[in-house]
Amino acid sequence: MVANPPRVVVLGSSFAGLTLSRLIRQHARDAVDLVVIDRNPYLTFVPNVQMEVLADRDPLESMLLDTAPIHARDGNTFLNAEVVSLEPDSRRVKIVPSDRPGSAPETVSYDFLVVALGARLAYDRIDGFGEHGDAVSSAFYGNRLRRRLRSYRGGPIAIGSARFHQGLKDKPEWLPVGLAACEGPPLELALALAHWLGQHGKGDASRITLFTPAAMIAEDAGEEIVRRFLEMASRMGFGYLSNTQDVVRLTADGIEFQSGASLEAEIKLVLPDWVPHPFLEGLEISDERGFIVTDRRMRNPTHPEIFAVGDAAALTVPKLGSLGHQQAEIAARQIAIDVGAVGSGEAGPEYRPEILCFGDIGGHRGFYIHSDTWYGGSTSVFKLGHAPYAMKLAFKEMYFRTGGRPPAFGVPATHLLMDHLPGE
Ligand SMILES: Cc1cc2nc3c(=O)[nH]c(=O)nc-3n(C[C@H](O)[C@H](O)[C@H](O)COP(=O)(O)OP(=O)(O)OC[C@H]3O[C@@H](n4cnc5c(N)ncnc54)[C@H](O)[C@@H]3O)c2cc1C
Repeated sequence: MVANPPRVVVLGSSFAGLTLSRLIRQHARDAVDLVVIDRNPYLTFVPNVQMEVLADRDPLESMLLDTAPIHARDGNTFLNAEVVSLEPDSRRVKIVPSDRPGSAPETVSYDFLVVALGARLAYDRIDGFGEHGDAVSSAFYGNRLRRRLRSYRGGPIAIGSARFHQGLKDKPEWLPVGLAACEGPPLELALALAHWLGQHGKGDASRITLFTPAAMIAEDAGEEIVRRFLEMASRMGFGYLSNTQDVVRLTADGIEFQSGASLEAEIKLVLPDWVPHPFLEGLEISDERGFIVTDRRMRNPTHPEIFAVGDAAALTVPKLGSLGHQQAEIAARQIAIDVGAVGSGEAGPEYRPEILCFGDIGGHRGFYIHSDTWYGGSTSVFKLGHAPYAMKLAFKEMYFRTGGRPPAFGVPATHLLMDHLPGE
C-alpha cells in the first residue's frame, strides 16, 4: 500500500468517466486515492435506447448499468452527489448529495481532477419540445416515444438536429467547427424508423424527412460517406432538408427553422444543442461556452492537474462516446505517469480523433462508419449489413459484462475486422 496516495477526483461516471476510472486503477493501481462523483449510481447506455424503443421494450429495464458496485470492487470511493461548483485555484469541488432533497453542500479537495460530466442536452432551449418533441437520448424520452408510436396516425415524421454552438477559444487549427453535435443518431433513427413503418404497415421512408443545420448532414463522417448515404436515402424515398440553421419552434403540426423553412410533422425527433454545465462557464480552464480546454493529452494547459474527457472536453467534436473512450486511455496513462506509477515512456499515442460509429437500421442490419477525413486523414469506410448490427449489440454486452472496460484488444480488433469484412 502507498501511504497517503494523491487523491484523483473523477467527476462523472458515464462512458468517459467510468472507463477512465477503471483505466486509472489498472495503470496506477494503489498509487492513487480514487474518488468518483456522479449524481446517478448508474449509467444509461444511450446508443442502444432506440433499439429498445422500436422493439417496444422499456429501456429502464435493459439499458441501465449499476456503477456503484463496479467502483466498490475497484477500491474507489463513489459519491452519489451533484457537482455544483469547481474552484481550480483552491483545488476543490463543491457537491450536494443527490439521493435526498435538502442535503447540505460539502467540499471535496483533490490533487488531480478529471472532468467527465458530459453536457446538458438542451431540449429546454427548444420552444415547444416538452409538448411536441421526441428523443431517444434517455429512458424517459425513449418511453415517451414508445407511447407516441402506439398512437401514430401515419403522418409525416421529421428527424434532425438543432444547431450546436462549439467553443472557439483556444480551438486548435486541426479541429473543424461542427454545426451539429452528433448526427449519427438521426441517420440511424431515420433508417430504423423507416423499417419500423414498413413492419407495422404504416408506410415507408417517404414519410420521413431528415434535416440538418449544416450544408450537409453528418459532415464529420466525410463527404464520400455522406454522398453514398444520401444516394441510398434518396433511392429509399427519404426527404432531406439542409441549411436549416437552427430549430426555432416545435408545434403540434411541425417544426419551424431559423432559415425560414418549416416542415409539417406528426412526430418531431430532435437532437438538441449540447450545452456545458453552467458552473463550468467563465472558468479559466474553459472555453467561452464552458467546454474544458485541453491539449492532445487531455490536460488543461493553465491547470496541468486538471484533465477533461468525453463530451465535456472542447476537443470532443462531434460529441461521440468513442472519442471519449480514446481520451480516457490517454488521460489515465497521464495520471499514472504523474503519480509515478509508470514511466513517461508509457504515455501511448496522443489524441487523434476518428469517427467510429455502429448504427442500427432495423431488420437486424446496421451501418458501420470509420472515417478521419474531416480531420484531414484518409480513412473512409462505410459498410451496411448484419455484421455492424451484431457488433452494436455485442459492444453493449461486452460493456455491461466488463463493467465499462472492454478489453484493450476488443476495440481495435473490432475495427480491423469491420474495415476488412465485405459489406452489402
Ligand atoms: C441518441 C444518441 C445516440 C448516440 N449514439 C452513439 C453511438 O452510437 N456511438 C457513440 O460513440 N456515441 C453515441 N452518442 C454520443 C454518446 O452518448 C456521448 O458521446 C457519451 O454519452 C458521452 O459520454 P460522457 O461520459 O462524456 O458524458 P455523459 O454520457 O453525458 O455522462 C455524463 C455523466 O455525468 C453525470 N453528471 C452530469 N452532470 C453532473 C453533475 N452536475 N453532478 C454530478 N454528476 C453529473 C451524469 O449523471 C452522467 O453519468 C449518442 C448520443 C445520443 C444522444
